[in-house]
This record gives sequence, structure tokens and C-alpha cells, in this order.
Amino acid sequence: MPELTVVIPEYNEENNVVPMHGRLVDALAELVNGLEILYVDDGSSDGTWAQICGLAERDPQVRGLRFARNFGHQAALTAGVDAARGRAVVIIDGDMQDPPEVIPEMVARWREGFEVVYGQREKREGETWFKRVTASLFYRILQRITNVEIPVDTGDFRLMGPRAVTAFRALPERNRFIRGLVSWIGFPQTAVLYHRQARQTGETKFPVRKMIRFALDGITSFSFFPLRLATWTGFAVSTFAFLYIVVVLALKALGVSWLGYTSLMASILFLGGVQLLMIGILGEYMARIFDEVKRRPLYLVGERTDGEEGVIPPERPLA
Ligand code: UDP
Ligand code: MG
Repeated sequence: MPELTVVIPEYNEENNVVPMHGRLVDALAELVNGLEILYVDDGSSDGTWAQICGLAERDPQVRGLRFARNFGHQAALTAGVDAARGRAVVIIDGDMQDPPEVIPEMVARWREGFEVVYGQREKREGETWFKRVTASLFYRILQRITNVEIPVDTGDFRLMGPRAVTAFRALPERNRFIRGLVSWIGFPQTAVLYHRQARQTGETKFPVRKMIRFALDGITSFSFFPLRLATWTGFAVSTFAFLYIVVVLALKALGVSWLGYTSLMASILFLGGVQLLMIGILGEYMARIFDEVKRRPLYLVGERTDGEEGVIPPERPLA
């Protein structure tokens, strides 16, 4: 049994696979007692899978899984953790934004007794100010509205010890906001600070649309705050409406009344907007509940380099 498995999700990263592998092997040589490097090809349409197969032929430490189609970053990470044979698991991006040279420090903290060691971004290079500002804002809002201590400015780059890995594999949900789930697990956790670098080649697979969906996944998985917001908005609007009615009736009794087209339109449009917004919030939760109850597998494996047959994910004990 290897001591460490490094899980790397790859989606159309044909030019990153080999350089990343070189850096990883250099950084981890002699570090651990048995190393496994597990590539998960998330349904790439370029030469990524061929590159992974090439590595697997040359380097016995390498294994590769290929999804039947693109199931998304979080599903790829889950598949990697499910299939890992190492005692501890490191998750790292395949585009060299998370430097593999940080892994030895993570391993050292793990050996000191920490069960989870997450990478915390001290600095982000080569990302637009829009991404930096929205990401920073998102992590801070999320921290305010959840009970789970999700550390700010962390991604999925982290090491999980054997107990954390076992716990993670048991989590049954389809909507996986992994950085939150790992915090939820508990055990002693600590951070390692690092500089997030610019992407080497290729482009980000997270356009704004996907970023928003991911942010909503995080919020709905770990907080009821938006639902409470609906309740409190309801209270506030009802209180105001009640007071307003009293005033209008009093004025009417005094003989003051006027044609109220403007105020009528304002209140109808305002209430209509608020109601649709609140239905939208309900919808976000409901769609996710629907997703959970369908109980479709999180991912399907099409090909693999290790000769095993597994196509569907392993049973989750708590599911
Ligand atoms: N990725 C993936 N499936 C996807 C999108 C991304 O496996 O649907 C991989 C991608 O190849 C990379 C990592 O996840 O190794 C992080 O993606 P990306 O660099 O595009 O995200 P960003 O760093 O821009 O947030
Ligand atoms: Mg990236």
C-alpha cells in the first residue's frame, strides 16, 4: 500500500500533463514510502487521455481513470479519492497553479499529527481582479453564513489523512462542495500558506456561469441563510404593510385620499420582484433536493489504465 496518492483532475490539459508530472515526481522523490499518482480525465476532448496513458506506461507509480463524459471538477476529485490506494491523499489541480513543491510541507504537517492540511492562498498570480475580488468576497460571505468553519481563500489543494479519507468516502451527497465537506469532517486541521501561480498553458475551465453555480452549491450545501432571508424579508414587508394600511385608513377617515397610480405600481412591482426572488431561492434548494433524490451515480468511469473493471462509484456506506 503506497503511503501517498496524489489525485489530479484533468480536463483538456494536454499540454500540462507531462510538465506537471515532471515537477510532481521531482518534488516528491524520496519523500514518501510508496507513491501513487492518480490522474482522473474528466471527459477531455483533446489528447489528455493519450498523455496519461503514455505516463502510465513509462512510470509504474501512475494510474489513470477516464470518465465517460465531463462530470465536473468536484466529481473528478471524488473519483480520485474513491479510487486512491494510498494511506493519505493529496488533491492538486493539473494546471500547475497549485505548486507541487508545497506537498512536502503538507506531508510534514500530516506526520506531526494533523489529519487535514489545506493550502491557503496567500497571493494569487495571473488571475483577473474580477476573479480575485469575487472569490475573496465569496469566501468571506460563506464564512459568515455557515456554522461549518470553512477557512477563507482555500481551494481543493489539500492533504487528507486516512481517517479523513474514510470519512470523505462515506459522504453520500451528489452536490459536492469538497472544500466545505472536508472542513465539516473535522479532526485536527491546519493550513500551509502558498502563492497560487498563473496558469501555465490552456485556459480556465471555470467561466463566470460555472463559478456562480459552484458558489451557489457551496452556499446551499452549508447554509440555510438564504431561506431565512426569505422569512425575515417577509416579516419586514408585512410589518411595513401593516403600518402603511393603518396610515392610509386614518387619512381616509380624515377625508384625505388621492388617486394612487404611482404608489400602486411601485408596490405591485416591488412585491412581485421580492416574491419571484424568494421563489428563486426556494427553487435553488428544491433543484438540489431533486438531484439528490434521483440518486444517479456521481460519475461513470469509461476507461482505466489499471485493468480493473469498475464503472460505477463504490457504494457509500452511509448512503
Ligand atoms: N477540471 C476538471 N473538470 C472540469 C473543469 C476543470 O477536471 O469540468 C480540472 C482542470 O483540468 C484543472 C482543475 O480542474 O486541473 C482546475 O480547473 P481550472 O484550472 O480550470 O480552474 P481555475 O483554476 O481557473 O479555478
Ligand atoms: Mg486553474
